[in-house]
Amino acid sequence: MDWRKGIRSYLLLAGLVLASGIAGTMLGWTAFGRQLNQYAYDFLFRLEPPAPWVPSSIVLALDERTLTKYGGLIGMRAALADGLNRINEVKPAVVAVDLILPEPGNGDDRLAAAFAKTHNLVLASDMRPDGSGWEDPIPGFGKYATATGEVHADLDKFDAVSRDLPLYKVAGHDRRWALALEAWLVNTGTQITETPDGLLAGPAMIPASVENGRVIRIRYAPLGMIPQVSVFDLDQNPSLADRFRGKVVFAGVTAQTAVRDRWMTPYSNGVIMPGIEMHANVYETIARRMFLVDESLVGVVAACFAFAMAAGLAYAFASGWIENVFTAVLLLASQLLPVIAFRDSIVWPWVPGTLATVFAIASAAAWKHLLVRRELVKAENQKTRYQQTMQFVTHEMRTPLTAIQGSSELISRYGSMPEAKRKQMADVIHSESKRLARMIETFLSVERLSAGQMELKQERFALDALVERCAGRARALAENKQIEIQSLDLPATELSGDQELMEYAIYNLLTNAVKYSPSHTRVTVYVDDESGDRVRLSIQDQGMGMDEKETVRIFEKFYRTKRAEQSGEMGTGIGLSIVAQIVTEHGGTIEVDSKPGKGSKFTLSLRRAS
Ligand code: ADP
Repeated sequence: MDWRKGIRSYLLLAGLVLASGIAGTMLGWTAFGRQLNQYAYDFLFRLEPPAPWVPSSIVLALDERTLTKYGGLIGMRAALADGLNRINEVKPAVVAVDLILPEPGNGDDRLAAAFAKTHNLVLASDMRPDGSGWEDPIPGFGKYATATGEVHADLDKFDAVSRDLPLYKVAGHDRRWALALEAWLVNTGTQITETPDGLLAGPAMIPASVENGRVIRIRYAPLGMIPQVSVFDLDQNPSLADRFRGKVVFAGVTAQTAVRDRWMTPYSNGVIMPGIEMHANVYETIARRMFLVDESLVGVVAACFAFAMAAGLAYAFASGWIENVFTAVLLLASQLLPVIAFRDSIVWPWVPGTLATVFAIASAAAWKHLLVRRELVKAENQKTRYQQTMQFVTHEMRTPLTAIQGSSELISRYGSMPEAKRKQMADVIHSESKRLARMIETFLSVERLSAGQMELKQERFALDALVERCAGRARALAENKQIEIQSLDLPATELSGDQELMEYAIYNLLTNAVKYSPSHTRVTVYVDDESGDRVRLSIQDQGMGMDEKETVRIFEKFYRTKRAEQSGEMGTGIGLSIVAQIVTEHGGTIEVDSKPGKGSKFTLSLRRAS
């Protein structure tokens, strides 16, 4: 019985832990979960910034002061032309221009002349608002471009933080690579080879899979690391041009008032980054191969279940401080995993593992709490039952002891007592001490028998005489409640075994029948079958009875039914467990047939003496 309960309890724990794993994993993929994952990602970004390096890119900025000097946005083309003319002298490796130039404008001739002298020029194209195609630079500019890259800004991010970038966009039927990627291709003089898992772009294998829409995470350089020089400053200090030597230049507007695409980055904490700087960061990500890849779904799910299982095991098998330490370690591990993975350039979502672990710990702890409480209640019950046993024993023993004490005292005090009286006293002492000894003997015998320390006596005795003796003793009790004990046509069948134990068993059944019946009822003892080598003896009452579940449990030590407890009858729940042991030791069986309020029938099936 007990091991089955144990298994059921462990299955419950396994179920709870499994459900925690599933719940944690699934919540990680809800909108809320994804948002939290992103915040954790940003946090890791700030926690683990890449070590600074010498950037291969530089920003040629059209900043506030430049635009002011050139008369606002209208002077943008002239300003860019002047800037290019200055840096072209030191031969930059590539110049990528993030200005959309689909229509003629002011300063076009100057800009075209500057473009003509620019080596490795990459121009930008943007998607038409309706997505039907691309807005390309006018042919007067386009003819100088080695390549054209798209700079279409997706500003539909749910928290406006730009963490990643698709490496291509499609408008109409025309696919364009991103500006930074084009700059990389031009600089390395290579073409793209596409595989399902990524893009092979010269010396760089970019892990941008088809499945992920060829998106890469941008590994932003520490703020301020990629240099910016404005056209205004170049005008003031032409020697600054030297900084552009051999670099990949990203030229564009940085003026806060004019910038069209503004981004927040995981670092920015509300500070906005102009698009041109973001392109430079994408370039650095590719050039330094600082690719952050997402952990696979299988890996995440497996880790969630591993955490949940570990929590379950900890609570199932550890306890006390080990359990606490294990819980702490587990929580720590679930938090460290994303950090350690991030150091390895793997992005591990924070929510699923965390929630799976927390849920599993919470449910396993609740499970343990209930289990411990159940054990505690059981122990408490056992304690009170033992106390009751002590009460019972002292109560049962006190009656004969009081009689013995009283009688012996009288004898010793009154030396000149009449002989008849003295004999009567002595008889009381004798019979009561025998009763006491028998009671103790029965308890001890049954304990020894069940412990296998004693052989059963093998005497022959008649069933009818035994039952009559028990009935006679029980009648003294029954009379108080006006209960009639009736024994019907008992055969003189012979049994073999320990007569005293058997008497204890039958007497116990009879006194129970009397105890748990109301006044003015009847208890009947009869034999209904004595064919074969067995005899069936039944003791039937018209008492409180019990329901079916209880009929199984009453043979357990210390078990008492609610009805019995409420009846006010003294009891310990030990008697029937002893009866059952005695009967089993004699090779017999005991059954109960009972209905609440209708009465009970206890039937012994006993072996006849051969
Ligand atoms: P006790 O009588 O000391 O409580 P027992 O082991 O003799 O202990 O009996 C166990 C329980 O079985 C009783 O407490 C009572 O609930 C139930 N029981 C036993 N005999 C009867 C009966 N004849 N009718 C109803 N309930 C009974």
